[in-house]
Amino acid sequence: MPIIEKYSTQVKALEESVKNASKIIIVPHYNPDGDAIGSALGLYIVLKNYGKDVEIISPTLYPDFLKWLPYNNKIRVLGKKTQSDPTIFEGADLLIGVDFNALRRIDNIKDRFEASNAKKILIDHHPDPENFTDILITDTKYSSTAELVYEIIESSFLYEYFDTESATCLYTGLMTDTGSLSFGSSNPNTYRVVGELLKKGVNKDKAYDKVYNSFSVDRMRFMGHIMLNRMVVFPELKTAYIYITAKDRKDFNEKFGDTENFVNIPLGIKGIIFSAIFIERDNFVKISFRSKGSFDTNKFSSAHFSGGGHINASGGESHDSLQETTERFVSILQTYSDELKNYEY
Ligand code: 5GP
Ligand code: MN
Repeated sequence: MPIIEKYSTQVKALEESVKNASKIIIVPHYNPDGDAIGSALGLYIVLKNYGKDVEIISPTLYPDFLKWLPYNNKIRVLGKKTQSDPTIFEGADLLIGVDFNALRRIDNIKDRFEASNAKKILIDHHPDPENFTDILITDTKYSSTAELVYEIIESSFLYEYFDTESATCLYTGLMTDTGSLSFGSSNPNTYRVVGELLKKGVNKDKAYDKVYNSFSVDRMRFMGHIMLNRMVVFPELKTAYIYITAKDRKDFNEKFGDTENFVNIPLGIKGIIFSAIFIERDNFVKISFRSKGSFDTNKFSSAHFSGGGHINASGGESHDSLQETTERFVSILQTYSDELKNYEY
């Protein structure tokens, strides 16, 4: 049974809002990942096919490995200047946020999102959503926002406008959020939706290849350097972390999206169930956490690194130096030592 059946009231309200809207803007979270972009595009295509005036506004750049997706060139990516443009949502009477659960996840455009008089809908699968929209459709049972967007389309009049291109974008969102169905995808519904997307003509091998086999030579060598020289392993604590300095990023000619996925690599070491990465960015340290099983990185991140996310994948940030941040992480880790040492997976 599709999960969406519980949300028929919200889907009805979404259908009405879409029918009544004259201009719709879809907004993914900042630093959008495959799920945010795939969901936004999948929905965009269906609304466009229905004949709506629709636009996607991304608060920041998105990774190159998504730039093969249909209509990605239609995404309006805000730059440093346009982020503060007060008119970005002008004329829109429906705003649809995808793949975020809190206003701060759209960072520099949150004030304008909040101030807009447009009707607002949020479509998401993160825990503990904030209540800042008129319609909220969210459930952590979904592997990805893309899986949820599919069920919204499937259960509404929009299904008539669903096509292979939309399905390809949604499949890519689902694939990237589940590491190609290797985590966060144990609900049989996810496989039902994958089956439906394949029926619609998605070329899944091509999607995989475009996303996962598209690295530059620089990025491959960057990864080699990181794994050899920047990974610290605590076998007893079943934990490993990686740190990346600003100099590393420069030395290996880092391009946007290059560090994506590095954090998952230590989980490939036998016995490691918790992994972290600390990346020295211009004004802060960007942090990501990944885990296996029930070790809750969402709680860890929100308790110690002003972040959040899901149980097995979350992010956060620090405004201390890179070294101070990793030292703090190591000392916090000691307080989890009983839990981690005895952890069975
Ligand atoms: P990533 O580590 O790939 O940046 O993010 C992993 C997951 O955690 C994603 O679902 C993302 O939405 C969430 N996430 C990443 N950074 C933050 C953050 O600073 N705050 C919150 N609340 N969630 C985050
Ligand atoms: Mn997601």
